[in-house]
Amino acid sequence: MAKVSEYFGSMVFDDRVMKAKLPSKVYAQLKKTMTERTALDPGVADAVASAMKEWAVENGATHFTHWFQPLTGVTAEKHDSFISPAPDGRVLMEFSGKELIQGEPDASSFPSGGLRATFEARGYTGWDPTSFAFIKQNTLCIPTAFCSYTGEALDKKTPLLRSMEALDKQAVRILKLLGNDSVSHVTTSVGPEQEYFLVDRDLNRKRDDLRFCGRTLFGAMPPKGQELDDHYFGVIKTRVHNFMSELDEELWKLGIYAKTEHNEVAPAQHELAPIYTTTNIAADQNQIMMEMMQRIAHKHGLSCLLHEKPFDGVNGSGKHNNWSMSTDTGVNLLSPGATPHENIQFLLILTAIIKAVDDYQELLRISVATAGNDHRLGANEAPPAVISIFLGDELGAVIDAIDKDEEYIGKKRETMFTDVAALPSFLRDNTDRNRTSPFAFTGNKFEFRMLGSSNSISCCNIMLNAAVAGVLEGFADELEGADDLDAAIRALIKKTIHEHKHIIFNGDGYDDSWIAEAEKRGLKNLKTTPDAYKEFLTEKNKKLLIGQKVYSEVELQSRHDIMLENYVKAVNIEALTMVEMARGQILPAIQKYAADVASQLSAKKAAVPGIEGKSDVKLITALSGYADAIDVEIDDLKAAAEKFAGIEDIVEAADFIQYEILPRMATLRKDCDAAEVITAREYWPFPTYTDLLYGVR
Ligand code: ADP
Ligand code: MG
Repeated sequence: MAKVSEYFGSMVFDDRVMKAKLPSKVYAQLKKTMTERTALDPGVADAVASAMKEWAVENGATHFTHWFQPLTGVTAEKHDSFISPAPDGRVLMEFSGKELIQGEPDASSFPSGGLRATFEARGYTGWDPTSFAFIKQNTLCIPTAFCSYTGEALDKKTPLLRSMEALDKQAVRILKLLGNDSVSHVTTSVGPEQEYFLVDRDLNRKRDDLRFCGRTLFGAMPPKGQELDDHYFGVIKTRVHNFMSELDEELWKLGIYAKTEHNEVAPAQHELAPIYTTTNIAADQNQIMMEMMQRIAHKHGLSCLLHEKPFDGVNGSGKHNNWSMSTDTGVNLLSPGATPHENIQFLLILTAIIKAVDDYQELLRISVATAGNDHRLGANEAPPAVISIFLGDELGAVIDAIDKDEEYIGKKRETMFTDVAALPSFLRDNTDRNRTSPFAFTGNKFEFRMLGSSNSISCCNIMLNAAVAGVLEGFADELEGADDLDAAIRALIKKTIHEHKHIIFNGDGYDDSWIAEAEKRGLKNLKTTPDAYKEFLTEKNKKLLIGQKVYSEVELQSRHDIMLENYVKAVNIEALTMVEMARGQILPAIQKYAADVASQLSAKKAAVPGIEGKSDVKLITALSGYADAIDVEIDDLKAAAEKFAGIEDIVEAADFIQYEILPRMATLRKDCDAAEVITAREYWPFPTYTDLLYGVR
């Protein structure tokens, strides 16, 4: 077998290849564009395109595509082959700078939230030179941004890049103020921990809910769930291991540092975490990773479920977003330094983040709001829908001391400062991690844990970056005018902590008492996607997002509409699938079983005159009772779905879904699951939870 070091990154047009293939002048110009995000010269583009094509063809590629991330939740690609006719009837393999830089896919079938009238179907994809091109399935994939004819972003990459630029600009201002002159850029990095389920592919195929919705809409809990905690970090089964090995290999070829994998809490649940990288690249790589997981699972006779809640009653899947800020000089700004001077910088940035998370709680909540994630947040497995920050004991104590104007006594009992004018020096926190916090400081990064497993990581990082940029801008404005900078910084840190400490919570986020306490503290508890989106287009949020040039006003309105549309469509498909499964499969199965038991009873009565057949009668009565109830509930859900179809206004539609459709779905499911438990297994029309959760050997 080939060594990892030999094939790692072999399918990526990365820095090594660029250096080897490009004339040095072209390489230098491209690097400049990549690091300084300057515009690319057309001549350079031609040279890059030619080298890229040569490399791609050498590695088996026949096609190229502009690879982008529209607002559908998955990636999009339209393949063109490199071939072009030669006069003598042969083919030439061609690829120009223009084709590299810009594409013109028909945008009319992508969500635009009314941004693009249907008569203007043109959309543009533009090369993002900051993310490497790669080869996937014989196709050279060029990471691109996607926008409308009129220039509005129709994708997730564009606002993410804008948010990174906003944060870069404001963070550099702050560092310069602190005398940190050598820094010219600050970037954010993310390491996303991806959770997923693996089920047998043949079983998956037999369930319409899994096929259409990615989650089970019916299913009684098996006698054994996750209560024994025997799956978490358990021995990895051979078939799963084979899947993981091939996945690693494919990801490594694509230059993705797939690193940690283990079984998760729920049966059939697993996790894969890559090593962190620049946010924009991490977002692209996470999309590739999700795609690869599904494709490779398929090859191993498995189905990879990325849905946030594939099974009721066991844990759902999330994606922890480990986020940090670092300088181009290699300093992690979230690493508390060893000296008080570094600590001041750290504390200023830390307090900016605390303020950002508090001021823009709604945006962070909204950034993870989807129909799927609504089943997970607050369900004692993922953090609640309330945003709070966990700092840990030591950092918590530092912040507390500053707030109370007290002396901070460090771990080693050293007095770190004697008056508030001096800020403390402290060590990296070693306290136990708190898994229940939505936003936890974990030594040198923050871990945002509300994100759902199927979500793009772009959305939450757009909001996080924008919020931190907005606060840093306010800080920089205030500090740049200060006479005594040192005193002003100290005062600002103290004031910020004082005003925002209510967002800090180091206790158990899964405890009900916390929700009550959070309410008292005035923190938002936005339980559902429609409720969260009601807080999206406020003046405060618009001011931030438009002010930081992350979104324009029309883009914001369109995102609001598209995200609600996605929510509404997802649940509507679920409702229709339930109606079909219940009417077409479950009800007939229950009826058939009841009828068979009734014939048995008649036979028994004929054979043994006077026999009562109590258990048969009891069973038939119960089955008929459920069948009658289910019959009514199907009609009721169907009628509601028909009524829903007539609602035009998106906010009204979303509310109808949450108040009228979802409760009816829950009622129907409850009776179907209860009927499943008393129906003989051989009659049940599709694989059960036991089959699915324990079906992979
Ligand atoms: P955990 O203990 O939470 O599992 P790990 O150290 O295993 O923490 O990291 C989890 C994820 O966080 C990985 O993807 C890792 O690369 C990423 N990570 C580690 N350090 C940083 C950092 N400074 N910035 C962003 N992500 C980081
Ligand atoms: Mg973690």
